[in-house]
Amino acid sequence: MSDAEALFAVLRQSADADAVAAIEQLVGAGTDRALNRINVIDFAAENRLSEESAIGAFLHAARLGIFDLSWNVLCPGCSGVLDANTTLKSMNHEEYSCALCAAGYVPTLDEMVEVTFTVNPRTRRIAAHTPNELPIWDYYTQIFWSSGIDLPDESTLDRLIQYITLDFVELPAGEKAILSLTLPEAFLIVFDPVTHAAQFIDVKGEPTRERQSLSLIFNKVRAPTGSMVLRPGPLRLSLENRSDVRVLPAVWIAGDQLHMIFGRRKPFMTAKRLLTNQVFRDIYHADTLNVDQRLKITSLTFVFTDLKGSTELYERDRRSRCLRPRQGAFPCPPGDRGRRGGRGGEDDRRRGHGHFPDARSSAQGGTTDARGDARSQG
Ligand SMILES: [Zn+2]
Repeated sequence: MSDAEALFAVLRQSADADAVAAIEQLVGAGTDRALNRINVIDFAAENRLSEESAIGAFLHAARLGIFDLSWNVLCPGCSGVLDANTTLKSMNHEEYSCALCAAGYVPTLDEMVEVTFTVNPRTRRIAAHTPNELPIWDYYTQIFWSSGIDLPDESTLDRLIQYITLDFVELPAGEKAILSLTLPEAFLIVFDPVTHAAQFIDVKGEPTRERQSLSLIFNKVRAPTGSMVLRPGPLRLSLENRSDVRVLPAVWIAGDQLHMIFGRRKPFMTAKRLLTNQVFRDIYHADTLNVDQRLKITSLTFVFTDLKGSTELYERDRRSRCLRPRQGAFPCPPGDRGRRGGRGGEDDRRRGHGHFPDARSSAQGGTTDARGDARSQG
């Protein structure tokens, strides 16, 4: 019996038999992509399993080391993964920003954090275990986007990608490249999904034959999205990768076709769904949230009394937390909501200059935000 077979034999003792059979089939015969960031809600539907038994089986499989569990912070605008964490505790930024959407968001457990499962390398090696070797669009589908994006079918996606992509380059760490483009009159985005760097270019006005130039530097600093206006005509785009990983900058036409790629969503397993799952509570004993964790739970129906020590913490911290909006892990009771100004989650979350798919308005708002954009030296 191989190691994997032995693990599945143990898994069968604790999880639903049909769910285990479906998972074993997936590990044995599924594509690499199907074993990366698995959307359990999708998996349950595809295999005619109840969602609870599928979630339970994956959790037991993760406990045995067959899969790795990941908590990913999502951008509600483009469905990109802004941050991936192996534990919920390590997710502690007060705000996440998306360069592509030029917007900032306060993470919420019931909408902005997804939980996915990826096969462990000891169970099976897949391409996504070495993301820096994935071709550009595989990088997008397997690493950049969350499990909640509902992409068009493959041939439609290929056609849309061809339409929106003016050019792209794979730029190894420390290297430079120059792209020579002819800019059409359109709204363009230069975006790298690895460093999450973006530059908006509004191409308009009289066409020119004079060569325009723009330099972009990619590094680990998540600078604000730059925005500039250029004229239709030739552009010399200099790219320099100062990060320690390969980057994949591409120049896109941000029109309807781009929105057709990014625009559709499907259900995914939210952090809230997982935290309220009985198997999860049994396995992890709710030792999941930090006392000081900066996450919001927008829905007051969240049952947190079962989390370890939460009742006590809640009582102790209730008042101070209610006075510190956007910093508390627990919701304030209804009677205290007024102290937070009665703001809905929506107001708090959308704090940028507009969000995808309305990239054009983002850029207009973003013009003032382009201050100190050291990356573009036009
Ligand atoms: Zn985004």
